[in-house]
Parts: sequence; C-alpha cells; structure tokens
Amino acid sequence: MTQYNAIERENRMTDSGFLEFLSARRLTSITGSSPYTVGSQSGQFYAVDLTWQTDRYSGSMEGTWHCSCPARDACRHIAAVVDMRWAEAAAANDYDGMDVMERER
Ligand SMILES: [Zn+2]
Repeated sequence: MTQYNAIERENRMTDSGFLEFLSARRLTSITGSSPYTVGSQSGQFYAVDLTWQTDRYSGSMEGTWHCSCPARDACRHIAAVVDMRWAEAAAANDYDGMDVMERER
C-alpha cells in the first residue's frame, strides 16, 4: 500500500506540473492531509476534509467531503483535492478506488 504524507505534498508545491494543476483551478496551494488546507487565488484559505459513516442498513462505508468555504459542500476546493488524490494514486499505479479514499481516514 502506498502511503501519502503531508511532507510529500509540501515538496510538490514547487513542482511546475502541480502549480499548473492549481492554476487551472484558480487555486494557489493544497497542503496538509485531511484536513487539507486549500489556498484560493482570492487569498482565502479553506479546510477540506473527508469523514466516514457506516450505512446503517447495508453496513457499507460512505465518505463525505466537507469544505469550510461559503459554498459549503459543492465547491471547486473539494473537487481539486479529489482530483489531486486520484492523480497521486494513478502516479503510484494504484487503481483501487475505494482503497484510495479509505486512506483518508
Ligand atoms: Zn470550498
């Protein structure tokens, strides 16, 4: 299992590909690890995190993303973190989608 950590993400803040990724989403930074701190080009910083609940009927795990921005839980900050996590997983040849998100716990 591949582990991702905050230090790798801090280092990536100097990577031109990652800066392009951020710029395309009107963001300036994504740091930390659930909760992530997402910097917007507006100068604001928002906290994005993932919480897990167990469905009381099926017993399956369901993850829910939250963001502290005014748009609440339907925003580009969450979308950017999810995109980043998928890109990280793909870069590590890790295509087990559920497992990728479970690591946020
Ligand atoms: Zn947001």
